[in-house]
Amino acid sequence: MPEQGFSTRSLHAGEDADLNMVSRPKTMPIYETSVFVYDNLAQADDFSSGNPDNFMYTRLGNPNQRALEIWAAEMESGADAVCCASGMAALMAVIASECGAGDKVAAAQEIYGGTQSLLSKELERFGIEVYFLNSHHTEAISAELRPATKILLVETASNPLVKLANIPLLAKAAHSVGTKLVVDNTFLSPVLFQPLKHGADAVIHSTTKYINGHSDATGGLVIADADWVSRARRFVHNGGASLSPFEAWLTMRGAKTLALRMERHVANAQKIAEWLQTRPGVVRVHFPGLESHAQHLLARTLFHKGTGGILSFDLRGGLAAADELVQTLKMIKFAPSLAGVSTTISHPAKTSHRSYSSESLAKLGITAGTIRLSVGIEDLLDIIADLSRAI
Ligand code: PLP
Repeated sequence: MPEQGFSTRSLHAGEDADLNMVSRPKTMPIYETSVFVYDNLAQADDFSSGNPDNFMYTRLGNPNQRALEIWAAEMESGADAVCCASGMAALMAVIASECGAGDKVAAAQEIYGGTQSLLSKELERFGIEVYFLNSHHTEAISAELRPATKILLVETASNPLVKLANIPLLAKAAHSVGTKLVVDNTFLSPVLFQPLKHGADAVIHSTTKYINGHSDATGGLVIADADWVSRARRFVHNGGASLSPFEAWLTMRGAKTLALRMERHVANAQKIAEWLQTRPGVVRVHFPGLESHAQHLLARTLFHKGTGGILSFDLRGGLAAADELVQTLKMIKFAPSLAGVSTTISHPAKTSHRSYSSESLAKLGITAGTIRLSVGIEDLLDIIADLSRAI
């Protein structure tokens, strides 16, 4: 063969450098490739027959995605899992793979604002009927689930007031009328609670939060039985909501320390909630680990490993006090996300719950002085020192 041109050589030189390696990587490399190479046509047939070890095109599967899916199914005690580009993509996939036009979805009234928006602004346009209910009135739930409601969607713990969902009772009520229970387990993580073991039919995560834990990758997961996951996977593939290999790799790296991190998040949050209760500038602390919390007993029985590192508190001085707090804190940053290794605060009325009317906020119990604290894994005394200066 004549010598190849510069363009050809610059494309192919070095591309097979790892093919004859004697050793193999200890840590899965980032398979940052959009497509995979086959040696023959039979290998393409093998992909179509569903061999899970056969990857063709990253939108349709990639080893980094697969690794995260195997991890999630194991940790949540599910048959299978599919990862996707964000927590919202996971919510879309779990609902769209189960419901179509004419079906009904019920959701907890205090569900995350993004989820409310997805349900009422998008899914309703496709003919799915959406309604919101009080998921804490468990004895009334089966009557409230109108005939043929396909899905009841709840969060294990709500944002920002950390109201807990009684998953076993909700599952029983939903199943008694043929409804499937989908649980957004983002706030607890599978380390603290596994909804599938308590009767839920499917679980979703925004891995952007605790599972990744480092505030540097966005992603989502659906975990359920094999049939539901295969439908959700098809939706993710057809809808183009696949997780990038790099985000999957970052998330897997974070996930390896999830159990350790959750232990520290829970311990720090408990101590900070107790300390906040003693501050004169704080009217009320919302944290299920406190005896004063209405769901303390449920927290101790169903969620005995803890409810995570999220808590909120109401400042005596309302909006002005909240703004002053934001500006006075040094180490703790105002960042409207949560569940990273660093402690952050947010102001629900100005961020996550901005679209709510003041009446709806009052109904939910969120005031202008409500601050959400995502307690990180720093040394406890340093978090308290920063808060102490500012409150
Ligand atoms: N579920 C909960 C409980 C959340 O708090 C969020 C985001 O804040 C989501 C889902 C959506 O996740 P993402 O931002 O990764 O799409």
